[in-house]
Amino acid sequence: MSEEYDLVTIGAGSGGVRASRLSAGQYGAKVAVIELPFGLVSSDEVGGAGGTCVIRGCVPKKLMVYASEFSEAFDDAEGFGWSKVKPSVDIKKFLARKAKEIERLNGVYGQILDKAGVECIEGRGIVLDPHTVEVRASDGSVRQLKTKNILIATGGRAVKPPIDGAELAITSDEALVLDDVPEGGTIAIVGAGYIAVEFAGIFSGLGYKVHLVIRGEQPLRGFDEELRQLVGTNLGKRGVDVHLKTSPTKLEKNADGGIDLHYEVPKKGGGKKEKNGEKEEEEKEKGMISCHKVLFATGRKPNTRGIGLEDAGVQLDEKSKAVKVDEYSHTNVPSIWSIGDCTDRLNLTPVALMEGRALAATLFGGKPTAPDYENVPSAVFCQPPLGTVGLTEAEAVEKLAGDIDVYVSKFKPMKNTLSGRDERTFMKMLVHVPTDRVIGCHMVGPEAAEIVQGLGIALKCNATKAQFDSCVGVHPSAAEEWVTMT
Ligand code: NDP
Repeated sequence: MSEEYDLVTIGAGSGGVRASRLSAGQYGAKVAVIELPFGLVSSDEVGGAGGTCVIRGCVPKKLMVYASEFSEAFDDAEGFGWSKVKPSVDIKKFLARKAKEIERLNGVYGQILDKAGVECIEGRGIVLDPHTVEVRASDGSVRQLKTKNILIATGGRAVKPPIDGAELAITSDEALVLDDVPEGGTIAIVGAGYIAVEFAGIFSGLGYKVHLVIRGEQPLRGFDEELRQLVGTNLGKRGVDVHLKTSPTKLEKNADGGIDLHYEVPKKGGGKKEKNGEKEEEEKEKGMISCHKVLFATGRKPNTRGIGLEDAGVQLDEKSKAVKVDEYSHTNVPSIWSIGDCTDRLNLTPVALMEGRALAATLFGGKPTAPDYENVPSAVFCQPPLGTVGLTEAEAVEKLAGDIDVYVSKFKPMKNTLSGRDERTFMKMLVHVPTDRVIGCHMVGPEAAEIVQGLGIALKCNATKAQFDSCVGVHPSAAEEWVTMT
């Protein structure tokens, strides 16, 4: 059967749902969304309305962060007069409750689409040509949809480095439902990005012994240097064994039923040698971590294979295989558009939402709209969290030829005075001297994610340092430091 749609979206994640529901609900377009069935579809594919964020990303991760933070609260309570307790956590009970909540949210996303008049179709969407999408359902049935426009919003998936034994490791998909590590067991996490650092905090807070294996010199490449250092220090203070400049070489099953993670590190006292004027490879020495699980948090790649894109003439980036789009999320094929992680621009849920909203306005609102990637605030839910918006100090120095003032505040959060927790909050504000504009705010400390959202609005409004200073602080709070920096 052939039907005519205004838009057929492949992928009901954050971006796909937002674009589809606004196109149908706000602009009256006839829209269908195709999504895989809820749950694990293959070894590295998870389906369901809500996509990565709701089903195997931000939402379940944040629930795990909450679960893990109770150990800190139990520790801190003693300093406030509470009697010491020996808390324990029932991981299976927590995961079951979390699974129920994710299932509920998956239902909510389905309802949102229904309410907006979007037709939800379960199956795998394949682009047959620039105006035809085939839906292959799990019962073997096939249906073809004719459409004026196609939106590719298929997201991304975790990748593992190509080392021997990589198949023994899990990714964040399995880490979100991990229930077979014995109490106090050992987990090694490879990687230093958002996911690695967040899971290090989660598993450590839940009582596991965590090794964080980082190939660089600090976690969180791309973030402000001082924040990176502090996050590394905080991880160590919370019992995470941080291995810097350490590259995994292979994984092997060990006799205890666990995994041996073999690695290489620069040799102590080694360094780069010269031979005939040529720098030689740095001398390395080998090491090993024995653990119950290895989690690879080594990046994600766009889901663009096997959905007919190349056959339909859609250009992909040669290296990353991301869908190539212009500033309006338009591919090189006039009827095909793409948003979210499969375009590998700024891979964050709220950015996909912005791209979805902009696309609906472009396609059906009569208002071509390009998403605005300036001053996107973001947070890393490590413990304590990191919040950031605007240029880092290194970027500001490079882009603005050093014409900046740097304001820094480092202090013991009030709660830590009685709890005795040995952690400091760190804030850094960057100001463009000629205009007095605040161009970057970066923070590690309790509630950083909540605080940086408000700072993001200020930066969007081009707020100046003088305007920050004219705002009265909320007392006593950590956030008031942002308006009293000298
Ligand atoms: P990232 O791309 O941020 O980081 C990948 C990490 O893996 C880097 O630290 C990299 O090291 C390391 N790595 C890559 N290959 C190897 C290797 N062979 N051996 C050792 N280390 C390796 O990926 P994530 O998986 O952390 O996150 C994926 C995406 O999810 C990000 O784009 C992020 O935007 C998003 N996300 C956002 C969150 C949030 O907003 N709070 C939370 C979670 C995810 P190096 O730095 O040396 O290259």
